Amino acid sequence: MTAARRPLIAGNWKMNGLTADGLALARSLAAAPEGVAELLVCPPATLLAPVASALSGSRVALGGQDCHAEEAGAHTGDISAGMLADAGCSHVITGHSERRANHGETDAVVRAKAAAAHRAGLVAIVCVGETEAERDAGEAEAVVAASLLGSLPAGARPGNTVVAYEPVWAIGTGRTPTVDDVVAVHAALRAALGDRGEAMRILYGGSVKPDNAAALLAPYDVDGALVGGASLSAADFLAIAGAA
Ligand code: PEP
Repeated sequence: MTAARRPLIAGNWKMNGLTADGLALARSLAAAPEGVAELLVCPPATLLAPVASALSGSRVALGGQDCHAEEAGAHTGDISAGMLADAGCSHVITGHSERRANHGETDAVVRAKAAAAHRAGLVAIVCVGETEAERDAGEAEAVVAASLLGSLPAGARPGNTVVAYEPVWAIGTGRTPTVDDVVAVHAALRAALGDRGEAMRILYGGSVKPDNAAALLAPYDVDGALVGGASLSAADFLAIAGAA
């Protein structure tokens, strides 16, 4: 970690929580004292409005979990980046592996969504990660670097884009790569980013918990975490943030 890249700890609540749960979690997070890391939560769309008001005035920012590439139109069930901004979001996750796997999102789709996020003034958190077979074949670094370059729109820069390295096989499984493997991939991603690499934040995501956060967040090239399951507990999420 370098002072120029403030750590970001982002929570992806996925499809979890009704209003009472979301409000209780948001209120606990909103009460957290200032700390080193920037904090972000990405609740389900139905909770954006109540969570926005619970977080108002706190150090915790709000993000969406996905957006459509277009600004408006006949896209039943979808949400545009402008709608997320209107609901109080500053960030949106694009290209999460669950979107890629369950909704057939390709790098080109992710690129269009990230571009839409930028047009709406949102920071796009662009996710990439290898499958277990790709890692076993020794292709992890090449696969994620190519996926990142395919997923970044032309205007991606450190001020509007955060990269999240999330090995598919580590998400929700309790398994993580070794710290050395994380460092190797982050270094490959930073190199692939070229001139933008030194200033752009690259998060690690995949089974980050309070007991492994300090080790995973310590390396120079790891600028925070995208946290799924552990972000549903305020105590666990804040413990991870405290390790940054
Ligand atoms: C995620 O879904 O982005 C994620 C990292 O999940 P988990 O922390 O539960 O592995």
